Amino acid sequence: MYDVIIIGAGLVGLGTANALQEHHPRLRLLVLDKEKNVAAHQSGHNSNVVHSGIYYTPGSLKARLAKKGNRTIYQFCQEHGLYYDRCGKIIVATQLKELLLLENIYQRGLQNDLNVSQLSQSALKEREPYVNGLEAILVPDTGIVNYQEIAAKLAEIIQTRGGDIHCQQQVKAIREHSDYVEVQTQQRGYQAKWLVNCAGLHSDRIARLAGYDTGMKIVPFRGEYYVLDSSKNYLVNHLIYPVPNPDFPFLGVHFTRMYNGKRDVGPNAVLAFKREGYHKTDFNLRDLTEVVTYKGFWKIATRYFDEGLAEIRRSCSRQLFTDNARQLIPDLQPEDIIPGSTGVRAQALTVDGKLVDDFHFVTGHRSLHVCNAPSPAATASFEIGREIVKQYFETI
Ligand SMILES: Cc1cc2nc3c(=O)[nH]c(=O)nc-3n(C[C@H](O)[C@H](O)[C@H](O)COP(=O)(O)OP(=O)(O)OC[C@H]3O[C@@H](n4cnc5c(N)ncnc54)[C@H](O)[C@@H]3O)c2cc1C
Repeated sequence: MYDVIIIGAGLVGLGTANALQEHHPRLRLLVLDKEKNVAAHQSGHNSNVVHSGIYYTPGSLKARLAKKGNRTIYQFCQEHGLYYDRCGKIIVATQLKELLLLENIYQRGLQNDLNVSQLSQSALKEREPYVNGLEAILVPDTGIVNYQEIAAKLAEIIQTRGGDIHCQQQVKAIREHSDYVEVQTQQRGYQAKWLVNCAGLHSDRIARLAGYDTGMKIVPFRGEYYVLDSSKNYLVNHLIYPVPNPDFPFLGVHFTRMYNGKRDVGPNAVLAFKREGYHKTDFNLRDLTEVVTYKGFWKIATRYFDEGLAEIRRSCSRQLFTDNARQLIPDLQPEDIIPGSTGVRAQALTVDGKLVDDFHFVTGHRSLHVCNAPSPAATASFEIGREIVKQYFETI
């Protein structure tokens, strides 16, 4: 009998395990994951950016936990000799109509108590000579890490403290009793006093297995990146972002420096026909049927038809993709980029067609379900764990 079982060895599951051990050093803890290694999905297929929290509504969990998480991630990397580079991010307005939005983002940065400054066109040119922009914001605390490396170190620490991590254990059934929970994988059964669901792209299904309808469904969006030919790396010094669409802050092609010296360009965001569908041709009948029979999906698809279509067209054409990226760096040519990595985002969507914006938890009788943990959840992962302990597990 464990005290707590966590489903999911991504950064949120590992962050939660870490926080539980910090608070309850003698806890009997088990993390289960269906894959061979930790961080096999979103936590190992992302942009590796340590976000600052600039975009998020002041007071929201995202704003609060990203800001704290930003410091925690750098500190963790420093303590354990892991790679990090606080290289800074520049958000660029390329058209007059974006100037007001840029000003709003700057004000939001101030409200969120972040270190932000405004850059004139000439100051922008000094930092990024190849970027076309009217004005920009500099966010010096944004940086890059290697989240896979961070997850591996965190898993090692959790095990050193006595926690168990069992990989290749896919949870198939959950039964809550009055004072314990039973978890059944394809191979064996486990018992614990409490259960925490951090299953990312499958978090809604795990909640359903435990008997809870969370009122939302995970819709998978594949992010497709290109890599800049290394002879063109000089085009990008910082992380360079366009002014985001306020309705879809995760859309918009940006340029990201990576821990391996490469520069990623992207992403497109298109509906994935499989929850863990990293390739255009990946398809799963159950996953797709669940999306296309979901009312919420059709509501959002009709409302944002043009945006969705533009993403699909860019996904099919390198020329269109380059045209979009050229708004930021006009010198970019289609032959300067080659197809790179992909990642699939778990975005919770309500039945009335709203993207759930903030991190979202649902409580069960002996379980807690992390039902929405999109970006910046890698940045915030340690702090999401601490928040979960503070709100739900302080006195177990
Ligand atoms: C393309 C992309 C770019 C992003 N960029 C950034 C960024 O730069 N910075 C940032 O902060 N955030 C970023 N994010 C968001 C961030 O990566 C995620 O929010 C975060 O990794 C979520 O972590 P998680 O642990 O909730 O999910 P995951 O990492 O997906 O982990 C969930 C785990 O649950 C396991 N699981 C699922 N079902 C079962 C089951 N039935 N039984 C057992 N195990 C199961 C899975 O195998 C998986 O390992 C990005 C995301 C994507 C997709």
